[in-house]
Amino acid sequence: MSNDLKVWIEPKRHSVEGHTAQCTLSFNGCIIWGPRHCHDNTIRLRDALAAADPRFQLTVVSKRKTIEGHTYAISVMAGDRLYLDRMSTHGHMLGLCNAINDCLAAERKRGPRGAPNPAPAPAPPPPSQAPRPSPLQHPPTPNQPEPPQSKAPTRPNSRQNFEIAIICALKVEHDAVEAFLDEEFETNDFSYGKAPGDHNAYTTGRIGQKPIVLAYMPNMGKVSSAMVATQLYMSFTQIKVVFLVGVCGAAPTDSRGRETFLGDIMISTAVIQVDFGRQYSDGFVRKDTLEDTFGRANPEIRSFLQKLEGKRTTKKLEDKTFDYVTELCERDVEYAYPADAGDDDNLYYADYRHKHQNSYSCSICAKCSSPNDPVCEVARESSCTDLGCSTTQLVQRKIREGTAARHPIFHFGRFASGDSVMKSGVHRDKIVVKEKVIAFEMEGAGSWDCIATVIVKGACDYADSHKNKAWQRYAAATAAAGMKAVMEEWRSCI
Ligand SMILES: [Zn+2]
Ligand SMILES: [Zn+2]
Repeated sequence: MSNDLKVWIEPKRHSVEGHTAQCTLSFNGCIIWGPRHCHDNTIRLRDALAAADPRFQLTVVSKRKTIEGHTYAISVMAGDRLYLDRMSTHGHMLGLCNAINDCLAAERKRGPRGAPNPAPAPAPPPPSQAPRPSPLQHPPTPNQPEPPQSKAPTRPNSRQNFEIAIICALKVEHDAVEAFLDEEFETNDFSYGKAPGDHNAYTTGRIGQKPIVLAYMPNMGKVSSAMVATQLYMSFTQIKVVFLVGVCGAAPTDSRGRETFLGDIMISTAVIQVDFGRQYSDGFVRKDTLEDTFGRANPEIRSFLQKLEGKRTTKKLEDKTFDYVTELCERDVEYAYPADAGDDDNLYYADYRHKHQNSYSCSICAKCSSPNDPVCEVARESSCTDLGCSTTQLVQRKIREGTAARHPIFHFGRFASGDSVMKSGVHRDKIVVKEKVIAFEMEGAGSWDCIATVIVKGACDYADSHKNKAWQRYAAATAAAGMKAVMEEWRSCI
């Protein structure tokens, strides 16, 4: 019966719909997808699934209304019966289809008599005879005395049952990660404690189905991240992967020559410590012998990254990230898309300096003509608008329009990690050309050297002199959303 079930989506003409519901999919009582926002027509999908295969149960509850675009249609079939025919829906229902297909594929692999499976349920009546549940309520399952109850995963028994850690350096970064916590485990009456000598502060909880421990860094930089990663491992000894999540400066194009836009997700495949080397009178030489670089990740992380970089998985990650960040922006206006408030995604030519552009207004900036000339202190702290940075000096790019502009793209490649903030377009481009890096940040080198690390960062500026913090909160949100999507691809071995 179950192996007959087919649920799929297909593209359709765009329509704009109000979403007033939230749905969660369970299989035999265990949540396998969601909760996700949805149109209230999703009760038809719920009923179709209940009739086609009662082990899949979709719970639908009301939520505050949001407006979404529908570009897909979803269908449900079992055997030769069509239970739902091309119902208008949102693209994230691909996640529901995948969850069902994964479940059925796993079941086929285990065999029909595998231990985790329940006894086969009696065949459901055709949809026309199925009881009609009232809208937005839990449906009675046909011919089953006890409908399975959705339940959240239980809290891990001990610190040794955590295998995913998240490290953040800035408040804006961990605020965004915390916004995606579905459950916090530690309460006034319960704590996992920590090992003697571990000075880290932690939050433990659940994001989606995965238990996570979030560690906070006392300071920015690689020394701090190395210390936090080392102590984390003292208390949580079974950690298999650390996600270093936050914001970074982005190279204007990635290693494949694709343009980068603010809010895009940058994922590390290697880390280069750019400020480790020798300063000679005629320049800086980075130490790049094998012993002095961090190079590749361990085989497990490399395999994981290979999977993420696959075309299908990357598309799935991008779609999920878009959904998650859209949901967060709806929940909390602090994460609103900055361009809506007039902070445009501007990339200036690398050699165009951020300074008082009117030479009469500042004598120091007036003398700044070459890349190494100083600018005044006031200019360093001022916005491009205040200084009069010219829009004629903006690089012309294929700007993503409409929804596409808010749809973060994933870029995979090498990260430049250093203890100083990169604020020079010319210097940035030299390192990009020489080291083939896609992003600049300050913590990766420390954690990468201690523990299996995947750096997931949102592009918040272009690492040039015009950089400001206008996109920081949004980029932190896309990074946290991207991390949630990436984490869902991680397979636990606990
Ligand atoms: Zn000045
Ligand atoms: Zn500027």
